[in-house]
Amino acid sequence: METQILQIDEQHINAEWIRQAGEIIKAGGLVAFPTETVYGLGGDALNPASAKKIYAAKGRPSDNPLIVHIYRIEDLHLLVKEIPEAARKLAAVFWPGPLTMIFEKSEAVPYETTGGLNTVAVRMPSNPVAAAFIREAGGYVAAPSANRSGRPSPTAAGYVAEDMRGRIEMILDGGDVEIGLESTIVDMTGEEPTILRPGFVTKEMLKDVLQSVSEDETMMSCSDGQAPKAPGMKYRHYAPKGDLTIVDGAERRVVDYINEQALRLREEGGKVGIIGTNATIADYRGDSCKSVGDRADEAAIARTLYRILREFDDEDVTVIFSESFTAAGLGQAIMNRLLKAAGHKVVHV
Ligand code: AMP
Ligand code: MG
Repeated sequence: METQILQIDEQHINAEWIRQAGEIIKAGGLVAFPTETVYGLGGDALNPASAKKIYAAKGRPSDNPLIVHIYRIEDLHLLVKEIPEAARKLAAVFWPGPLTMIFEKSEAVPYETTGGLNTVAVRMPSNPVAAAFIREAGGYVAAPSANRSGRPSPTAAGYVAEDMRGRIEMILDGGDVEIGLESTIVDMTGEEPTILRPGFVTKEMLKDVLQSVSEDETMMSCSDGQAPKAPGMKYRHYAPKGDLTIVDGAERRVVDYINEQALRLREEGGKVGIIGTNATIADYRGDSCKSVGDRADEAAIARTLYRILREFDDEDVTVIFSESFTAAGLGQAIMNRLLKAAGHKVVHV
């Protein structure tokens, strides 16, 4: 299959191209599209055959549920059994935006889309290209991140092409994404809203709107035997090819430790990648040293992390060391992804 790649300017959206993209979805095909979080791989959420195609294109296990994307709040009704009051409040504040909510699913949503679950994940993205595309596609687009299973989520169309060229009909290239990490997922089906995956919408932001929000215990830990509530979280997602270790401690000790390890591993023939910050990056002695930006600028770190992991893959780095980041606010999402990429390997120095 030939994959058509179309560059769409957010300010001047080419209506004819968006219409063509929508036609592909309605005909049961797949289109990758930009959102504010990461690129999505879209198919018709109400068509069981489309969900199967998404799993095949990603090489993803079919018990891993997809998020259904809508472009206006009123379309939520068709997808869910009921809308709890707390969900109305969150939608009013955070939609459109990087928040996904889990509801009891309606009959309209096929089990292929929900990975066999009786619940459905729904999000209304704010990216204008995404919104226009979802509308033209009929209003309900199921989309996971547009990467092959096991690779970091794509933050630019070029990365989507790397993974999906020849496997899907079209890629809408809307440039670099704004946020760079996947949406916050909150389960609205229990007694108390529960965060299943941290993201740009932080626990503190959710608590400003709702009195009580809890967190899935497995979110930041690696305890065996406890199944995460968001099925996708059990897979070792976000995994770079190189063996990643997070090094936590005082800045100078971290730099010294990483450099000692890098020296030893390079002598043994390894190719060492190092993830540092603007304050430390010049001090590292690896084969490839990359800064995520200023430690204080968490938004920049979120935007840069997956790109760096992909670059290390392209450079065939065999071992990676990363500095550790504060796990509060947006830092919680950053550390959640980094810990997963590292298979929870952390060294304290
Ligand atoms: P992705 O779009 O690649 O970030 O993956 C979507 C993720 O959303 C899945 O891997 C699950 O972890 C989560 N998810 C989707 N639907 C549900 C659901 N019904 N219940 C719990 N988690 C869900
Ligand atoms: Mg994903």
